[in-house]
Amino acid sequence: MQQRMIGDVKVTRIEEILGPGFPARDFFPEFDEATFRAEEHWLAPNYYQPESGKLIASIHSWLVETPQHTILIDACSGNHKPRPGMPRFDMLDTPWLDRLRAAGVAPEKVDFVMCTHLHVDHVGWNTKLENGRWVPTFPNAKYVMSRTDHTHWAAEAKAPETAAYQVNTYNDSVLPVVEAGKALLVEAGHQCDDCLTVRSAAGHTPGHIRVDLASGSRRAIFSGDALHNPVQVPLWRWNSRFCADQAEARLTRHDLLADCVETGALLMPAHFASPHAAYVKAKGDRFDLAWDA
Ligand SMILES: [Zn+2]
Repeated sequence: MQQRMIGDVKVTRIEEILGPGFPARDFFPEFDEATFRAEEHWLAPNYYQPESGKLIASIHSWLVETPQHTILIDACSGNHKPRPGMPRFDMLDTPWLDRLRAAGVAPEKVDFVMCTHLHVDHVGWNTKLENGRWVPTFPNAKYVMSRTDHTHWAAEAKAPETAAYQVNTYNDSVLPVVEAGKALLVEAGHQCDDCLTVRSAAGHTPGHIRVDLASGSRRAIFSGDALHNPVQVPLWRWNSRFCADQAEARLTRHDLLADCVETGALLMPAHFASPHAAYVKAKGDRFDLAWDA
């Protein structure tokens, strides 16, 4: 189990799934064969599988243990959840909760669950199935979510044109937490513990947030899905096809990477494969990665 100390804060990655996901040419609307090929030498095999053309993706949570609190950032996809039209996340049965316990954290111990946004692979473990009902997995936690994102997805869940898996995601993984009075709907600037600050990182979803960690002189940024694959560091203009506002997502990604350069923050995204986190350096119009092995 890989653990990092950022100042006084211990950060542990809790894995749900690691493996090939979407094909690169389908995933990036800006995909260009020659541009991608020029990066392939460092992307394969950790971040790209040449034989299938698929991007390698990790789905994980970041467990953040401060001197005061136990916090989870993003809640993966969850178990036993019907996701019609999205087979990758349909009816999963993974040992994610066992892995959390193996890291020394029982569900009762979690104080905050922070969701960077309310997509299917970020809210799943908010709830678990108990006697046929979806109940909060973390009975003593407050669930921190962007108010903007919540307003958006609550409306989407009622709209007839919304994909069935997204309707289910809101209804089985977000709504039960809200109805239990455990949701904390926040704006940018919200502080969680002394060391975590919510900042806007909109574009991928309307209210997407990032979580900035500061402890002593050390910095880290939990960037959710502001970017998905390491190729989006040098090629920061490349969005995912799941980004709701393509222009805003691009700007957010640029600002995030520039902030990492300026503050020396460790970039900790939700889906980078091993070693899962990196420092960022500016290089002309591009950014470069320095992996935190
Ligand atoms: Zn995601």
